[in-house]
Amino acid sequence: MLAVVNLQIHYGGISAVKGISFAVEQNEIVCLIGANGAGKTSTLKALARMIPSRGEIHYGGERIEALPSHELIGRGLALVPEGRGIFARLTVAENLAMGAYHRRDKAGIAGDLERIYGLLPRLRERAAQVAGTLSGGEQQMLAIGRALMGWPKLLLLDEPSMGLAPLMVEKVFEVIRAVAAEGMTILLVEQNARLALEVCSRGYVMESGLITLADSSAALLADPRVRSAYLGE
Ligand code: ATP
Repeated sequence: MLAVVNLQIHYGGISAVKGISFAVEQNEIVCLIGANGAGKTSTLKALARMIPSRGEIHYGGERIEALPSHELIGRGLALVPEGRGIFARLTVAENLAMGAYHRRDKAGIAGDLERIYGLLPRLRERAAQVAGTLSGGEQQMLAIGRALMGWPKLLLLDEPSMGLAPLMVEKVFEVIRAVAAEGMTILLVEQNARLALEVCSRGYVMESGLITLADSSAALLADPRVRSAYLGE
């Protein structure tokens, strides 16, 4: 579904991503782990065409480097950004409706809304609440719910655990598991390596703009380098 070849990202003279290659197959859930500043967020932003990059990005059998980001949303590539980016002054229901702004099929939208409320019952309870007053975890669920409107083919998730209390992190990851169980293809960026590897089938480790390890989650969880650098062992 996604193949990235020699991706490079520069901010002025700074090289943030230095030529990485990776792939995500349909129905896979794959993670990109690594320390602060490794280049994970930049990579996701480049995939969603929010920032320029060099190298090849193949999505659904097509090169997408030249496409604008709104075009990609229509083609089923959705990003849940770090910091969530929800509309604080709009209600939960209005935020979800914004996730379907590019669609015209009213019946399909209503069906997806029901599906999302089924996966995220908290959002149904809070449908009329102003999003800015939701708890951090609820806001994260709303950001995921909004990206799911339209049932994307590929969901890019940036640091869904960021800033959340452990119990809320567990709830957000339950949602990710549920979405994955419905067959969604997911690329997950996480600093919480243990959580990410527990939910993903494969992972890539990024360090200073490069992929330094690529393996199954089980192998990465057992790797002494991963254990000492990312699992605090
Ligand atoms: P974190 O887990 O802390 O979010 P990350 O792995 O997602 O880290 P990036 O946010 O992709 O890392 O940042 C990679 C590098 O690029 C960092 O050194 C960062 O300072 C730099 N960088 C990111 N955005 C910009 C920008 N807009 N201008 C200049 N440098 C940037």
